Amino acid sequence: MGVFDQMSHYDYGEVHLKRDAATGLQAIIAIHDSRLGPALGGCRFIHYETEEDALVDALRLARGMTYKAAITGIAHGGGKSVIIKPRQEFDRAALFRAFGSFLDDLGGHYITAEDSGTGLEDMEIVRTATKHVTGVKPEHGGSGDPSPFTALGVRRGIEACVKYVMGRSDMDNLTVAVQGVGHVGYHLCKELHAMGAKLTVADIDPLKSERANREFGAEVVELDDIYSVECDVFAPCALGSALNDGTIPRLNCKIVAGAANNQLAEPRHGEDLMQRGICYAPDYTINAGGLVNVAQEVIGYDADKARDKTLQIYDTIYEIVERADTAMAPTSRIADTIAEERLRSAVQR
Ligand code: NAD
Repeated sequence: MGVFDQMSHYDYGEVHLKRDAATGLQAIIAIHDSRLGPALGGCRFIHYETEEDALVDALRLARGMTYKAAITGIAHGGGKSVIIKPRQEFDRAALFRAFGSFLDDLGGHYITAEDSGTGLEDMEIVRTATKHVTGVKPEHGGSGDPSPFTALGVRRGIEACVKYVMGRSDMDNLTVAVQGVGHVGYHLCKELHAMGAKLTVADIDPLKSERANREFGAEVVELDDIYSVECDVFAPCALGSALNDGTIPRLNCKIVAGAANNQLAEPRHGEDLMQRGICYAPDYTINAGGLVNVAQEVIGYDADKARDKTLQIYDTIYEIVERADTAMAPTSRIADTIAEERLRSAVQR
């Protein structure tokens, strides 16, 4: 599919591309919707097999951000950026500075933050070229790494599902399989371990799974075995499309609730999970803690306010799960409906 076909497939009006020969920067900024405010969303820096993969990643992620902001009650639109990680040697600082200039040219229409493959140091470099960046150091008005907030929200979402499905308010000996123990997965394990949960983890980086074993007593399994671990909760915290035709039949859990964006390979997989009696916490709702945190940064950072709003993810997830149960509809569809209702009513006001 060509660029415009992809844009119409994902319902887009605006995508910005930048190639900077001097640094090797190849970047995409996808702005899905700015009716609620300037688009806000992270910058992903990973390898892609094809340019189309990078474009589709940006388009799917930014669309998710529109829904995430709407359902969480945040006055921002949905945007996301992707920098295609070069296969050849590159100067990271120069690359992110060039990306900052690209952002600056958009005049605040899109505000960036961290995502997979980027971190605080990268945002600090971006900051040298533009003010439209969040996730920078506290001494620069920033809130630092958003991952602990994302993990806090995911933990609250897990609590809501556990309450609804299992009738429990505690996590003692709750079994949780975490796929990917990077920034968010690590902090999620920390939260869950502190509450008495028993963890199983898998990560392509053995150092990360070993750290979870060392610090939280997590059992480490092979990458492909994480799907079939017998557990109460499966928490996808790696990259997208973890829930697909190949993996859903292998799940051995009551609840799927994790941080990854775009967990469902296709929307119909939300229906598949429901048919199998698995309660799914919609990704863009449960993982909104990081967005809450960086959105707070845009208006003047206050950690207490960000924390209070992140804790409310419990209520949003509980409402979705309850409504889905009553309507006998997939939670993913109910979340979309609530987000669309909020988008429409906010725009009409
Ligand atoms: P990260 O890159 O720090 O962590 C991802 C981890 O997953 C890495 O340790 C990586 O080695 C591992 N991984 C990759 N493929 C894997 C596989 N097939 N099996 C097992 N492990 C695998 O990224 P992150 O910031 O922790 O984000 C994780 C997910 O959560 C992403 O989908 C991201 O978009 C989403 N998310 C992150 C935030 C945030 O605050 N960082 C906010 C919202 C959503």
